[in-house]
Amino acid sequence: MKARPPAFTKFRDVQAELARSGAALFRDADGVESLVIRYPYAIEYIHSYAEDSPFFLGLAEGRLRGSRCTKQGCGCVYATPRSHCMECGSPTEWVDLPTAGKLHSWTTCHFGSEAFLKETPYNLGLVEFDGVNSLLLVRLKDARESDLYVGMPVEARFDPNPKYSVTDVWFVPK
Ligand SMILES: [Zn+2]
Repeated sequence: MKARPPAFTKFRDVQAELARSGAALFRDADGVESLVIRYPYAIEYIHSYAEDSPFFLGLAEGRLRGSRCTKQGCGCVYATPRSHCMECGSPTEWVDLPTAGKLHSWTTCHFGSEAFLKETPYNLGLVEFDGVNSLLLVRLKDARESDLYVGMPVEARFDPNPKYSVTDVWFVPK
């Protein structure tokens, strides 16, 4: 009979074991064991950003772009682009956002999609900007979780070799 795969409590150890042998058990805080297997696959996905395209083109130019309501007297600004205002329903226009802000909150991700697996665990932050009515969800780099605090000044960094993806921007301590 074949031996059971080894069990780990840290997912990064599970990932190392998967790379080595292809199977591992992940034991959670309650002692529940989940069998995890290595199952590589690759697809090429052709994706249109459609109306969100200016956001990704902006990242490639080192600009962070959001949306501003066009209605007089409203003018809500959204850090995550949207075609219509969440307050009044009017159409929005593109605006450049500040590239520096303050950390509103954060979480540490111990699992991520394919684009982020190599840097897992990583910190994901909500950044607030002066004059902007919503928060931006973005990766934080160059800081350990223990370094982070609410209100921490942070600023954007842009990939000099853009991939036209959310990976083209991240924030670091200012
Ligand atoms: Zn509005």
